[in-house]
Amino acid sequence: MTASTNHSGFLHPLRVAIIGSGPSGFYAAEALLKQQGFKVQVDMFDRLPTPYGLVRGGVAPDHQKIKSVIAVYEKIAAMSGFRFFGNVALSRDISVEDLRRCYDQIVYAVGCEKDRSMGIPGEDLARNHSATAFVGWYNGHPDYRHETFDLSCEKVAVVGVGNVAMDVTRILAENPEHLAKTDIAPYALEALRRSRVKEIYLLGRRGPAQAAFSLAEIQELGHLEGADLVVRPQEAAIDEVSKPELSDPVVKKKTDYLISQSGQGMGSKPKKIYLRFCVSPVEVLGSSGKVQTLKLEKNILLSDGRGGVKAKGTGEFETIPVSLVFRSIGYHGVPIAGVPFDTKSGHIPNDQGRVLDSQTRQVRPGEYVVGWAKRGPSGLIGTNRQDSYATVNLMLEDAMAHSGSWGRAEQEDISQVLAARGIRAVTFADWKVLDRLEVERGARFGKIREKFTSVEEMLASLTSEPV
Ligand code: NAP
Repeated sequence: MTASTNHSGFLHPLRVAIIGSGPSGFYAAEALLKQQGFKVQVDMFDRLPTPYGLVRGGVAPDHQKIKSVIAVYEKIAAMSGFRFFGNVALSRDISVEDLRRCYDQIVYAVGCEKDRSMGIPGEDLARNHSATAFVGWYNGHPDYRHETFDLSCEKVAVVGVGNVAMDVTRILAENPEHLAKTDIAPYALEALRRSRVKEIYLLGRRGPAQAAFSLAEIQELGHLEGADLVVRPQEAAIDEVSKPELSDPVVKKKTDYLISQSGQGMGSKPKKIYLRFCVSPVEVLGSSGKVQTLKLEKNILLSDGRGGVKAKGTGEFETIPVSLVFRSIGYHGVPIAGVPFDTKSGHIPNDQGRVLDSQTRQVRPGEYVVGWAKRGPSGLIGTNRQDSYATVNLMLEDAMAHSGSWGRAEQEDISQVLAARGIRAVTFADWKVLDRLEVERGARFGKIREKFTSVEEMLASLTSEPV
């Protein structure tokens, strides 16, 4: 890397490592590279050879419009000062110590990779899955390509009513031929074509006014070609404790939609999505080690004393005869060696983005966090932009305050560290080769893209293709 003098007189660029290449990482890179104060070198790392995090591995294949945000990230990757190091994992290939040696600042943009468990008996039964695994599986994520889902049963429960639950339900209920031209993993398309799933119970523990789904997502479920969205009128009705929430126009639109939907009855389409409210799973019951039914407790809604509404069990139970359960109750972070982690909240402890030591709660100089790893698993893709820019503002403030100590000429370049360890880092140009190959493979099947689903396959393709 060549040091350069820039208009503010600094001899060397500020060197920043961003760990993770999802939306929050890219927006942090954008904020750093667009600022005018001084020159910044951004190196972005991903443990996979492919960039874009949940935009590639999480956004559903029938939501290509959402995925089109990738064009913005491509522009950021093309900015001067940006380098991508795919197939390089923090704690597997490089350590925080390596990063401290090579960079002035580190940004953790690692998201929340795991699911939360329901904490009820029977969760270890076969056919009880996390939505995370199902989403990763149909999206061809290398971590989940070997998962299996028994779609030979007719009745399925999806626990939780957030947007991930909407995605899972839609993929299960949708005509698979609508997915055939997308970038869905080929094995998932085949499994969905053979699926016998007919009834999906979508379970919210609180009421319609507290449902986490977006209006567009619930309306999409109401407009599926082969499935009816069935809502019980008594469960769509707004109780007294929830009425103040209707002053929020978004909540009002969603609850109005549900009330109108509840007037549609059972409908006449072959598949049914039973959207339920005020029910909590309390036990997964099975036989021969496999899920057979799900026991639910009816809830009432109470004020939580902080302006919100909480669910409380009534002691009244029912069972639903489902043979497959997907829990979609939010994500949870995964600790990384050398990086502070709060086991309770599941994210990296921080003060507005400045990483804090887990024990002392003191700021760890030069370490920052953005996205879900900073604030928890909430918000849409665009939410991350403002959030990453806010962290970068603090980074620039800190960099100016310590300008004498950054950009040291003796800093090692990480590519030398990786080369010395024999690690095959995937550059952005390499990724563009994989991208082209995926699109070409897709064209052969009439699909927009046929993803590589294994890291080995990706690396092998790169050795046989000129960059
Ligand atoms: P989420 O929006 O936080 O929803 C989690 C759901 O799980 C809520 O309904 C929650 O109910 C429920 N829940 C939590 N703990 C539970 C328990 N123990 N028992 C029963 N239910 C429980 O999370 P998400 O769906 O994983 O989505 C994560 C973020 O990604 C969200 O911001 C979402 O909007 C975004 N996303 C967006 C899209 C899109 O734009 N199309 C797609 C996917 C994801 P309570 O409300 O009662 O806690």
